[in-house]
Amino acid sequence: MAKTFIFCEFNNGKIKKGSLELLTAAKAAGAEITALLIGPGSTEAAPEAGHYGASATFVCDSESLKNYNPMAWSKVVSQTIKNSGCTVFLATSSMTAKDLFPRVAAQLETGIASDCTDLEFNGDTPIAKKPLYAGKCKAQVNFANSPIQMILMRPNQLPIGEPDTGGHCEIKTLSAPEIDDRLKITDVKKGNTDKVDLTEANVIVSGGRGMKDADNFKLLDELAETLEATVGASRAVADAGWVPHSMQVGQTGKTVAPSLYIACGISGAIQHLAGMSGSKVIVAINQDKDAPIFAKSNYGIVGDLFEVVPKLNEELKSVLN
Ligand SMILES: Cc1cc2nc3c(=O)[nH]c(=O)nc-3n(C[C@H](O)[C@H](O)[C@H](O)COP(=O)(O)OP(=O)(O)OC[C@H]3O[C@@H](n4cnc5c(N)ncnc54)[C@H](O)[C@@H]3O)c2cc1C
Repeated sequence: MAKTFIFCEFNNGKIKKGSLELLTAAKAAGAEITALLIGPGSTEAAPEAGHYGASATFVCDSESLKNYNPMAWSKVVSQTIKNSGCTVFLATSSMTAKDLFPRVAAQLETGIASDCTDLEFNGDTPIAKKPLYAGKCKAQVNFANSPIQMILMRPNQLPIGEPDTGGHCEIKTLSAPEIDDRLKITDVKKGNTDKVDLTEANVIVSGGRGMKDADNFKLLDELAETLEATVGASRAVADAGWVPHSMQVGQTGKTVAPSLYIACGISGAIQHLAGMSGSKVIVAINQDKDAPIFAKSNYGIVGDLFEVVPKLNEELKSVLN
């Protein structure tokens, strides 16, 4: 089976769900897996890669790589992939990955497919598909003549297997590269939420223009608290300045695929649907029974969200607590 290299993202000492999905898929395909983690804390998180099937894990556990630096990171990744002799490379299609891996692909003179939603293996060959035209169709990617087949998968698309806590991987430490003076990260401003990022969230409660103003988003925050969900929004709302653009879901916002997406006061424009139609269950709350969002929803509630959302929250609280 193909030597498969997986870039694992991690947070608070744990490998992120999207990366666990990739480890699971490669393990199920019988691949020989090498993982790579970059940044402070990577040594602590590395053993988990072994529990999900990696036989070796590289770590570059350096304070100098605390913040994403495209030049330093691409140097580490390209060199490590090259030395590994892998023919398949997998990573999550995160914001960082979409900036980093095209650079790496260029350095390795190989092909890359980002934003994929389907991944299967046919023997040594990975078969990936990615949505086109705002999700109207999918293209199967062919990596003819690419020495390494690099695939970036959207999170929440594949199952995560049970960890084998007896599974060990050899941990190999890499030294950090010199930081190139041409590009310096001087400051990173984190969002003011400790919620899971929209692209990784399992449950999302989203608000649109029907929320009427910014203050009313506290209704969605309350519902999100009950459901351990992350709050998203339509572009109309982000453009109006009611919420930051980082909360926008859609063609020009984030692409999400949670288990449950609750759309409140969102009409269901094609550009919004492009970002959330991969959700497993969609619930829409809208006072207009003809709103297009209902055609894409598994459950629809026709009504005033200012009445429905608080009632729904009370009911869910009594069931879940
Ligand atoms: C190039 C391009 C890219 C775009 N990218 C995106 C994108 O990434 N994401 C995105 O979302 N949009 C995007 N848009 C904008 C998109 O076309 C829509 O304008 C936008 O999604 C509409 O947002 P909305 O559903 O919140 O507002 P509206 O379309 O105004 O819908 C508001 C809904 O709220 C309902 N409502 C009102 N009051 C209540 C109430 N009290 N209770 C219940 N329901 C109520 C109404 O019935 C209505 O259906 C893009 C547009 C373009 C041209």
